[in-house]
Amino acid sequence: MTDSALLDELMTLVEPGKMLTDAASLEAYGKDWTKHFAPAPRAVVFPKSTEQVQAIVRWANQHKVALVPSGGRTGLSAAAVAANGEVVVSFDYMNQILAFDEFDRTVVCQPGVVTEQLQNFAEDKGLYYPVDFASAGSSQIGGNIGTNAGGIKVIRYGMTRNWVAGLKVVTGKGELLELNKDLVKNATGYDLRQLFIGAEGTLGFVVEATMRLDRAPNNLTAMVLGTPDFDSIMPVLHAFRDKLDLTAFEFFSDKALAKIMGRGDVPAPFDTPCPFYALLEFEASNEEVANEALATFEHCVEQGWVLDGVMSQSEQQLQNLWKLREYISETISHWTPYKNDISVTVSKVPAFLRDIDAIVEQNYPDFEVVWYGHIGDGNLHLNILKPDALSKDEFFAKCTKVNKWVFEIVQKYNGSISAEHGVGMTKRDYLTYSRSPAEIEYMKAVKAVFDPNGIMNPGKIFAVE
Ligand SMILES: Cc1cc2nc3c(=O)[nH]c(=O)nc-3n(C[C@H](O)[C@H](O)[C@H](O)COP(=O)(O)OP(=O)(O)OC[C@H]3O[C@@H](n4cnc5c(N)ncnc54)[C@H](O)[C@@H]3O)c2cc1C
Repeated sequence: MTDSALLDELMTLVEPGKMLTDAASLEAYGKDWTKHFAPAPRAVVFPKSTEQVQAIVRWANQHKVALVPSGGRTGLSAAAVAANGEVVVSFDYMNQILAFDEFDRTVVCQPGVVTEQLQNFAEDKGLYYPVDFASAGSSQIGGNIGTNAGGIKVIRYGMTRNWVAGLKVVTGKGELLELNKDLVKNATGYDLRQLFIGAEGTLGFVVEATMRLDRAPNNLTAMVLGTPDFDSIMPVLHAFRDKLDLTAFEFFSDKALAKIMGRGDVPAPFDTPCPFYALLEFEASNEEVANEALATFEHCVEQGWVLDGVMSQSEQQLQNLWKLREYISETISHWTPYKNDISVTVSKVPAFLRDIDAIVEQNYPDFEVVWYGHIGDGNLHLNILKPDALSKDEFFAKCTKVNKWVFEIVQKYNGSISAEHGVGMTKRDYLTYSRSPAEIEYMKAVKAVFDPNGIMNPGKIFAVE
């Protein structure tokens, strides 16, 4: 069958106008936030029902055409990139909240529901959806499940995985499976739901997800604390964690703060310049808790771990303090950063960062390096900014060389080469630094069960063999 006959057949499987092949759409829907690979899909389809998704999968199996599930395309590992003539399957038109159960505190979502849409829905019901990060206004629940997204509240609420009560998926064979039936307890063998969470669309499509909600937090309050060095951040974390139930504990470097200040639309937290900053958040549900936070702050100052600090006194101040952290990713995207999203157990963070810092200083002496991340979870974002004088290709080639040394340190500390952004295409060549050969063989065998013809997002997580 010719390519155009194939696409004519595909077009009949979706509603009129719901297949696009124009250059601008292929460019837009063929990429995520990464800039490493040129998008080159052959078409983009927008199913409006589970039946249409199944029909697309059957068509793809019949004609051996690769499919790329596509959410909000905010991914940072090129997992939603279609660079090899694939068909992009976008969930932009499966974006409805289908049901809410007040007693179970669950919401049934189509995969294209935007993360913020679910957060706002929860708020309207007096409840809370706690998975949150800077791209929540664009990312979709299907994509969040595909990456098992983390974010800024993981220290208290965990990753997306914790909030998925049940899933409906269309496997790479086209079968519809209902996984876990939204149960809290279900001891009936393998929990296949968990396999689809973080699978980066390599096993099948999430076509419906039942998400859990939590009670709304009470009077969230943030503190930003400046520290004299990186090593002081960990005792600060210890001190606050002992006294308060933290909802967030983030960090960023002075270079990250300088970029935010350069925007001109975010107030400085305080005047004292500090090499590193911690942003922590807790529920100041009563005066006692707020006093405990202030006493802990004073203790940290006395110990020399903190040079200066500020605590939010209003919702507006809370939001302004969060902007210092939340705007970093978007602000530095101007410099085409090379990103590493690495993690170790929290106790190993100081030694790990010292080792990584030495490698980075030795190998990137001319590059601007911006550190920030979810330090309370042991997750560091290492961002190397592209100098204007270097082309994108030269810059990425230089950064790729140093990856090997960075990932050797990750391996030495038994850490992960991707804490929350996924493997996609950008990290797939380094998977062996975090996963054993035996584990990778089992993972490939699992993929073959759900997707025997290899049509689901090939080349992501592992190279195509
Ligand atoms: C400014 C910024 C800040 C960010 N901060 C964080 C952060 O703090 N924490 C974090 O974890 N991530 C963060 N991210 C990364 C990104 O937002 C997350 O990975 C998010 O979960 C991706 O969702 P998406 O809808 O954009 O997915 P996409 O990028 O479209 O896709 C991601 C993966 O999911 C698959 N997928 C999409 N839909 C489906 C479906 N229906 N069924 C099966 N597979 C599917 C895709 O094939 C792909 O493999 C950030 C990104 C940006 C741009």
